[in-house]
Amino acid sequence: MGAAFGQKPLGPVLHLYRSQLHPQHRQITYTKPSSKNLEPHFSVESQAFGGSALKKSSSVASTGSKRMIPLGTGRPSPEYYPWIRSLESKQFDTYSEAITKETNPPAANGHHQLALQVSTKHDDGYNLALALNYGHAHVELVHNPSYSNWDTCLTAGTTSALEIAFRIFCNRGDIVLSEKYTYPGTIKAINLVGAQMQAVDLDKAGASAIYLKEILDKWDISRGPKPTVFYTIPCGQNPTDTTQSLKRRQQILEVAEEHVLIIIEDDPYYFLRPGLCSTGADSDISADGVPSYLFLDTFGRVVRLDSTSKILAPGLRAGWVTANASIIEKFLAYQEVSTVAVSEPVQMMLYILLDDNWGHTGFFSWLDFLSQQYRIRRDLMLEACSKYLPQDICTWVPPDYGMFLWLELDWRKHPQFKDGLSCGSLSLNLLEIENNILQLALEDGVQVTKGSLFRCSKKPIEELHFRMTFAAASEQDLTQGVRIFAGSIRKEFTIY
Ligand code: PMP
Repeated sequence: MGAAFGQKPLGPVLHLYRSQLHPQHRQITYTKPSSKNLEPHFSVESQAFGGSALKKSSSVASTGSKRMIPLGTGRPSPEYYPWIRSLESKQFDTYSEAITKETNPPAANGHHQLALQVSTKHDDGYNLALALNYGHAHVELVHNPSYSNWDTCLTAGTTSALEIAFRIFCNRGDIVLSEKYTYPGTIKAINLVGAQMQAVDLDKAGASAIYLKEILDKWDISRGPKPTVFYTIPCGQNPTDTTQSLKRRQQILEVAEEHVLIIIEDDPYYFLRPGLCSTGADSDISADGVPSYLFLDTFGRVVRLDSTSKILAPGLRAGWVTANASIIEKFLAYQEVSTVAVSEPVQMMLYILLDDNWGHTGFFSWLDFLSQQYRIRRDLMLEACSKYLPQDICTWVPPDYGMFLWLELDWRKHPQFKDGLSCGSLSLNLLEIENNILQLALEDGVQVTKGSLFRCSKKPIEELHFRMTFAAASEQDLTQGVRIFAGSIRKEFTIY
C-alpha cells in the first residue's frame, strides 16, 4: 500500500492530513508546480462575473480577529433560530442504530443506519470550517493532485455544479465534446447555456481517444469555434457502464494537452468498486484501481465533480468540485447568486457522519460495503439476463461496477425489418419500436429507460438500446423485473 500507481506516494499526504490540514493551512506547502492558467477558457459571461458584492461584504464582517458589530447584513441572530439548541443536543437521534467509532467499520449485519449522536464536546456548536477541511483532506488522500494551487468547494450536488461549469466555460454556440451516450441532465444543462454537443464514440475501454483527436484535428471552424471542453463520466459511465482504462485516460489527457481542452470529470460512480480503498488503519488507505483524471492531470486541466448522491443519499443535494483555484473561485461566485450553500443542517449531518463518526477509514469502509452490495446486485441482474433475455436479439457487456446495464437490441431481427416490410425512415421506426417495448414493459409492471434519451447527437438514431439499473429494485425484484422485461422484448419481436 502507500504508493498509488508508482507515482505519488501517499505517505507525505497522510502526514499532511494529520498535522497540517487545518483551515489556516489549506494551501499545500510541499513542492508541486502550479497549474496552467485556465482563465482564457472562461466564457465571456464568467470572465465578467465576480459574484455577489453583498455576500462578500457580509463575509468580511464576520471574519477576522476584530469583533464586528453586525449592522450590515440582514441575517437573524442565532438565538432566533428555532432549531439551534436541539441541533446542539440530540435532535438527529431519529435513526435506528448507532455506529460509533468503536463499531466502525459498519456492522456486518446489514443494518447501517446511523444515530447521529451529538456529544457534549460540541457544546459550543459544530465548526463547519473544519467539516469543509474534511473534504479537502479526502481529495488529498484519494486523488493527491499534482499541482499546488488546487482547491475544492461544496456544491449543491452535481446537477447544479454542471450548470455552473458550463456557464463558466461555454459561450452560446460553443460545442462541448462528450461520450456518444451520456447523462441526460448534462445534455439539458449544455443546451440551457446555448451550447451544443458533439458525440465521441465509445468502446469497452471508454471514450475513444483516437476519435476525440480526429474530431479536433479535423475541426472545421465553419461549424463554430473548436471545442474547448470534453465532458466525461469515466467510471461506470451513465448509461453504458463502461469504465475508462488507465491507458485510455492517459491518451485522452494527451489529446487534451495538444488541443488545449478542459476535462470535466463527472464521477459519481467512482467509489462503487470493491477494494478501491482498504479498510485498515489510516496508512492502509490508498487509491487502488484506475486513478481519476484529477490524479493523472499534471497541468490543472481537470474539473472534477463528486456527489454524495450515489454513495450516501441523493436527497442531501450535496457534492464537491475540485479544480485549480481560479476555477473554484468562479464556482463560488456563481453559487453566491444561485444555491448559495449546501443547506447547513445537511452540512452538519455530513460532518457528524464523516468526521465525528466514521473518519476517513470508516467512510472508505462504508464505500467498500456499498460496492460489495452493488456487486451482488449486478451479478443477480447478469444471471437473470443470461437466463431470460433472448440472446439472439440482446447483447450487453457485463459492467465492472457502477449501477447500470446497457442493453443493445438487434433491430434487424425485428419483424418489420426481417421481413423486408420496413417503410419510412430507420430512425422513426427505431423510435417507434423502442416506445412499443417500453409501453409493454410498463404495462407488465417494469420500468426501464429508453436508450434514445441518452443520445447527445441530434443525428437520426441508428441503434436500439435500453438501460436497466440494479441499484433500485429489491434483490428478488431484480430477477423478476428482467424476466418480465425479456417478455416485453419477445412480444415486440414476436418470438415466443
Ligand atoms: N452525473 C451523472 C453521470 C449522473 O449519473 C447523475 C445522477 N444520475 C448526476 C450527475 C446527478 O448527480 P446529483 O444527484 O449529484 O445532482
